[in-house]
Amino acid sequence: MKIAVFGGSGRAGHVIVQEAVARGHEVTAIVRDADKAKQVLGDNVALLVKAPQDVTAADVAGFDAVVDALSVPWGSGLGYLHLEFAQHIIQILANQPTLAVFILGSASLSMPGENVPMFEEFPPQAEAAPWYDGAKFQYQEWQFLKTVDNVNWIGVSPSEAFPSGPKTGYVKGEDTLLVGSDGQSHITTGNMATAILDELENPTHIKRRFTVVDQ
Ligand code: NDP
Repeated sequence: MKIAVFGGSGRAGHVIVQEAVARGHEVTAIVRDADKAKQVLGDNVALLVKAPQDVTAADVAGFDAVVDALSVPWGSGLGYLHLEFAQHIIQILANQPTLAVFILGSASLSMPGENVPMFEEFPPQAEAAPWYDGAKFQYQEWQFLKTVDNVNWIGVSPSEAFPSGPKTGYVKGEDTLLVGSDGQSHITTGNMATAILDELENPTHIKRRFTVVDQ
């Protein structure tokens, strides 16, 4: 497949690029900083050096899949960009057959046994937390994606913790936070990359969202 990864030199994004390359896909990392990307990815990965919102429909035409692995720093006040990036990617892919994977947050999942997204049950004091802004707009990103019917989008929510780490095996779920065999909720970047590439190669969640936890 021809795959483009927005945020392809980022913490999760570069692992997705590496997993896709290892599987023989033709991969382009969409990045703002070519030097940073080369340090992370080496010299052999194709780069499109553009800010996410400058990427055009022509830039992504011909790709079989794109992955949104963009983020903004906690506490930056830029959380709204999560939603704006997703809206832009949807706009440039409108009415194309391209698969588009969006990494969402875990706060749009429900706790086991509940039917309400965690974000809707956060206490008022959560608003002061540095992660709140990002969680809020990634929740809105999920609400937005559910309204989109002219793009083959796929949402994926990490577990509660999403640390950098190797691929060791994962379990897939739907809209409820998963807990692993150790009783904790975490997914490594390696296992997330594996899950995303597995989904792209054999899609089961087009216009839906899934979640993953370390096995
Ligand atoms: P990173 O912090 O590594 O950021 C990814 C990329 O975003 C960067 O490489 C950068 O690209 C780009 N970026 C950052 N700021 C801007 C900006 N202002 N404008 C344009 N691009 C920008 O992200 P992670 O890999 O940690 O996160 C990936 C995904 O996982 C996100 O959706 C994040 O919210 C989610 N996540 C969810 C968690 C959870 O729910 N438990 C926990 C952690 C992450 P460049 O290098 O090209 O500038």
